[in-house]
Amino acid sequence: MLSIGKYSKIKTNDLSRKYLKESILRKLKMLEGQHVMKENKKNSIRIKEGTYIVNANYEIIYMDPNLKKEFRDIHDKSICYSTLRGENQPCKDCPMHEFTNQNASVCQKLHYNKIFKKWVECAMMKFHREDDEYTIIHLRQIDEEKRNLYLQFGQEVRYDNLLEFNLTKNTYEQLYMDGQLSTFPVKGNLHTLISTVSMDYIHPNEKSSFQSFLTLSTLTERIEKASYILENFRFLYADHMYHWTFLYIQKVDKLTEEDTYLCFIANIDHKQNIPKRAPIEFTSQSHDALTGLYNESAFHTMVQNRLKEEPATSFGIVNIDIEHFKLFNDWYGTAQGDDLLIYLADQIKKLSAQYNGIASRIGGDDFMILLPKTACHVEILEEQVISWMQNYEVNTKFIPTAGIYLIDDSSTPITLMCDRAAMALGSAKGNFAKRVAIYTDDMKQKLQNEQEVLFGVKYGLEHGEFEIYYQPQCSARTNRIVGAEALVRWNHPTKGMLPPNEFIPILEASGFISKLDYYVWEKVCMFLYEQRKQGKPIVPISVNVSRIDIYQYHIKDVFLELISTYELTPAMIEIEITESAYSENYEQLLQTMEELRKAGFTVLMDDFGSGYSSLNMLKDIEIDVLKIDMKLLEFNEQSRRKGSEILESMIQMAKWLELRIIAEGVEEQEQVDNLLNLECEYMQGYFFYRPMPKHAFMELLGQADKIDTRGIRAERMPTIQLEDLFHKDITSEAMLSNILGGIAIYEVDEQGNLEIKMANDKYYRMTHCNPVDLCERGPFIIRQVHPDDLHIVWDIFNRAEKFSASGASGTFRRYRLSGEIMWMHLHAFYLRKQGTKRIFYGSITDDTENTELQKEIMMLLDTIPGNIVEYHVKGNEIIERRVLSAGLAGIYGYAKEEYQKLLLGQGGKDLLHEDNRQQIIDLITNPSRWTKEMNFECRTLAKDGRTIWIDQNFKFIGEEEDYLIYNSLSTDITRLKH
Ligand code: C2E
Repeated sequence: MLSIGKYSKIKTNDLSRKYLKESILRKLKMLEGQHVMKENKKNSIRIKEGTYIVNANYEIIYMDPNLKKEFRDIHDKSICYSTLRGENQPCKDCPMHEFTNQNASVCQKLHYNKIFKKWVECAMMKFHREDDEYTIIHLRQIDEEKRNLYLQFGQEVRYDNLLEFNLTKNTYEQLYMDGQLSTFPVKGNLHTLISTVSMDYIHPNEKSSFQSFLTLSTLTERIEKASYILENFRFLYADHMYHWTFLYIQKVDKLTEEDTYLCFIANIDHKQNIPKRAPIEFTSQSHDALTGLYNESAFHTMVQNRLKEEPATSFGIVNIDIEHFKLFNDWYGTAQGDDLLIYLADQIKKLSAQYNGIASRIGGDDFMILLPKTACHVEILEEQVISWMQNYEVNTKFIPTAGIYLIDDSSTPITLMCDRAAMALGSAKGNFAKRVAIYTDDMKQKLQNEQEVLFGVKYGLEHGEFEIYYQPQCSARTNRIVGAEALVRWNHPTKGMLPPNEFIPILEASGFISKLDYYVWEKVCMFLYEQRKQGKPIVPISVNVSRIDIYQYHIKDVFLELISTYELTPAMIEIEITESAYSENYEQLLQTMEELRKAGFTVLMDDFGSGYSSLNMLKDIEIDVLKIDMKLLEFNEQSRRKGSEILESMIQMAKWLELRIIAEGVEEQEQVDNLLNLECEYMQGYFFYRPMPKHAFMELLGQADKIDTRGIRAERMPTIQLEDLFHKDITSEAMLSNILGGIAIYEVDEQGNLEIKMANDKYYRMTHCNPVDLCERGPFIIRQVHPDDLHIVWDIFNRAEKFSASGASGTFRRYRLSGEIMWMHLHAFYLRKQGTKRIFYGSITDDTENTELQKEIMMLLDTIPGNIVEYHVKGNEIIERRVLSAGLAGIYGYAKEEYQKLLLGQGGKDLLHEDNRQQIIDLITNPSRWTKEMNFECRTLAKDGRTIWIDQNFKFIGEEEDYLIYNSLSTDITRLKH
């Protein structure tokens, strides 16, 4: 047996090895004398520390008394893996395998010991004696009292907390905790732990480096490179102070498939040599150069002191900034931006002086003020911030936002107080009706949830939880698919399929969106590649590019690389950049778009109308397609017209700028009609298709009659530009009047009075009137209308207001100046509101001849031995039925009016024979079952009970405004049946 004293032949070539050797020898000697034997749980091995030596055949040739006490069956040549770890072959994670090359002689490793049921740290060293190779191994359970972690031999680092991370299960377990650091649950969800710690326990200056350090998606890779990772952070301890803390993470092998790490945490204040609260000298260094207010660190110190000096006073911290200040700088220039900051700082100084507070500028447009609680009143502050801007020399809509944190515990770290005020401020942003908000615990919860989402997304991306849905884009004229938009969905393991609005805004705020975006772009390219490889049709797919992507990537190069990898052309990928992106870093954005377009990609401006871009900007921007979101134009019933007007001017503007347009969020037929009237042909929305998974989209693409592979880019016949028609050089007044026909401008007041304000020559000719007469009669023009037809006129004006693009029309009787009746067809359009009056444009035609002719036809129809009923159908509903002829009344033995009533009763129910009554009613009252032409026979009943056989012929006649017209002709075929 070797004895500990005979280690003279250890091969250590350099000084450091020598040093290590000495250190381990010292340790071994020390251990021989003093054995750390503490009682563990019953029935488990009680060993805390021990040393043994094995030869190259894994035979134990020495074991110290510590180990011997526990392993009494040990004998000469006992095999280490079976004795110490209960294995029947050399352990997969045997520390000896860690000697990667011949020269290496020391190493250190952590493993899980099934016999000890503990994590064990192994430090070992190889040595040679008489040409044989031996390894000396020192074992130590890592929850022993001294909690030393040998990063390198000889360098001791204590740990105060020890955690096990299981990345496969996304769980953690605290193996050891000293209670100073926190009161976290012993076990739990790893993402939640990391997000909670990063939110509440890490010093703000180190938050982002802590998040990068604990990014689980890259942890394995980082650890594989360096075998461990370590970094120092300031943690908030139970004493409410930040302490420098050391984090060390190492991968460990539990001999299972699971990805497990140990995380050692130790307080290293004593090493860091950083004063916890160094008093700040108040030199010019403590003041902000632009505004003269305190800077952040001076503010913290001042606040800390004030809270100590005045423990009886209640204070609050107010955070103020200007929403979209960046935009202000872009619009007015940075010099004006600085002026605004100086002005605001002066106001803040005054406010602070009034209440004996402390005011600071943290950076940019971010201000913090300590005020007594009595001054932290939401309404008062709101009035203040609004009045500041009202009194500012530049008349601007930029108004400051404020968040208040009322200090309830003055021992809370100042940074945390400021964070909370900032959280409150964040909640007031985007809400122009409420400029000031007060911190509540819900806000913290919200932020915490956001952190969880962030970690969850990172995990989800690696585990294929994200899926791409495709929403077709159609030509509303042909109903064919011309393209599609790729929209991401998160197939969350516990929450199910999540729409993007539940995670995209959080990812955007953190910048992580870029990773997800790239994932989507690549998946779309892969999809197009697969389709093409299989010879299947494709349409261009548009993908979303977030604002941050423009700074993170060189977008053009990324897309060029993707299309080259997946053998695509630029025409197959369209790039949607949301309008809000244009509010920031405008120059860089313009350049990116120009590059993309030069490379052949189609660029779309998404969500146009959301209000970030000024209309002027459009003329400088390099885009191909404007995407108008109908949801952004949703207004309530009263102001519906406003939305319509905005839509019309947007489309008009796009046409002037020769941009193509696509409307998204199209849900109703009415919107389709309106858009088509405004010559916007391409649409995307639930009316056509909802976003669908890949397989469903592939199925659609497989139906040749449903797609148009020419896309939105196809060349088209130019559309007449009406403004050319109105141009003086092209058309004379007389010519225009003839082109347009009779025109009048009407005014309707709130009392329902109708007045004509203007008319053209054609109108006078048609109505046999002149400007003098009309001037007299104009205010009472409604009296010219036949009393029975007044309702038709009012109906036209009401509908015209509702359908602003298509207007409304109808025919009614009116008196000419001579007293003679004429049939006037009026097509009215709502123009605008003027005071309390509504102004309409009316296009007039004289329908007298047509209507007289119709009347003659009607009379003629009456002589026909048959019934004619006209149906007006909207969707699947019959909205009107009219009896045009009731020629069979006599045959049935009824008077004409009584018979007409029966015909109009539910599907003519009372006239039907009970043998086929239900069947016929089901058909006649259900337009979804009608075809363009249908014929059937049925049995009906005369007044005296006779059976009359009827032949019914149903026919689609045409389309009128928003309904379809069908006619049914019934003839008596009883004779043919006998
Ligand atoms: P977006 O780009 O404006 O996409 C259109 C959104 O409108 C989609 O919502 C779509 O499902 C929805 N939509 C389409 N037609 C209708 C309709 O007729 N009615 C209504 N009410 N909604 C309709 P989704 O899929 O929830 O996406 C919302 C937003 O999330 C997208 O707005 C886009 O800004 C963002 N987004 C989606 N996928 C991605 C992505 O991969 N990357 C990025 N950065 N953003 C994405």
